[in-house]
Amino acid sequence: MTLDDASLEKFGFIERPAKGLINIDPLQTGGILTEDARRALVEWGDGYSVCDNCGGVLDLIKKPPVQDFVHGALPEFLGVDEARVTHGARESKFAVMHSVAQEGDTIVMDGLAHYSSVVAAQRARLEIKKVPSTERPDYYIDPEGYGTAIEETISETGKAPALALLTYPDGNYGNLADAKKIASICHEYDVPILLNCAYSVGRMPVNAKELGVDFIAGSGHKSMASCGPIGVLGVNGDYAEEVFRKSPTNKNKEIELLGCTARSATIMTMIGSFPEVVRRTRNWDNEVADARWFSGKLEDLGLIQMGERPHNHDLMFFEAPNLYEISTKVKKGRYFLYKELKARNIHGIKAGLTKYFKLSTFGVGRENLSFIADSFDEIIQKYE
Ligand SMILES: *Cc1c(COP(=O)(O)O)cnc(C)c1O
Repeated sequence: MTLDDASLEKFGFIERPAKGLINIDPLQTGGILTEDARRALVEWGDGYSVCDNCGGVLDLIKKPPVQDFVHGALPEFLGVDEARVTHGARESKFAVMHSVAQEGDTIVMDGLAHYSSVVAAQRARLEIKKVPSTERPDYYIDPEGYGTAIEETISETGKAPALALLTYPDGNYGNLADAKKIASICHEYDVPILLNCAYSVGRMPVNAKELGVDFIAGSGHKSMASCGPIGVLGVNGDYAEEVFRKSPTNKNKEIELLGCTARSATIMTMIGSFPEVVRRTRNWDNEVADARWFSGKLEDLGLIQMGERPHNHDLMFFEAPNLYEISTKVKKGRYFLYKELKARNIHGIKAGLTKYFKLSTFGVGRENLSFIADSFDEIIQKYE
């Protein structure tokens, strides 16, 4: 292809199609920018914009207040001794795995673990041992399963796992396993534990020390109203020295962070949203109440919510045998639901899904949730 003017025409500024819609996409509800973050995005959009006053260590920059954030507010928020900003939850997880485990070691993780935990472990050249969940409809992770998996690892390899990981909540059913119990079981075997909080840090109160976990990973673009890619990593106790070890040659550069991470608008949007993010986690009880209320509304219409009941998180997975049944008969087939919702300005259930889908009620509010439930009612009645 030649890069002539005609071929370049389709690039440049591109308007975003899905704007101003009611959003229930689990990936997106917690990542919508606050007004301050939206302003920060433009203000700090230039490359390396935060580096004017950098003395060589990103997280020690005083103006803008990156140091106050990374070494003051953020560890307080996460309940950890040391925190850093990374490029995402997956980068946080990889940094931990790559630091505390050696090639060929085993990592134990819940059977509901996100693919990014799996590929992070593979990149760190680790063996993966899964703790199975129960089957439909609960998908429950029994804390004792961690003890079993650790003992199996020891008997199969002669060595304890280097690390355990729990997804909190998991990204499919929104189940919050008993992290405290799991952490204490892992510690009985001296196995450190990493909590993957991509769907929790920034939405609900999570405190690593209170839960007794050694590491915590969060996602800025998933749950902290930030423009990604950006994540957070918190570390407790002596593990901080290991994970944040410095280069022997470039003495102030941390190896796992490749010396420096979020260095423009991404971190400034996280800082921009932070006051509101802290405040919204205090409103979590209302978010859970909204999720339960909405789940009840959809169940009245014949849908079935999987996972924990009553539910404890805004991320929910539904089975919809009636919507599936309709999709087998209508002209638009399995796209009918997406199209009907879109016609009502509702965005976030993947196009083509009818039988199983997940959604999030986070920050949507009772009024919009009520409108969405009524819309499902209308759609079902229209076709039945
Ligand atoms: C979205 C998600 C991730 C990935 O987060 P990134 O910040 O994009 O790396 C990890 N784990 C779970 C459970 C997720 O839902």
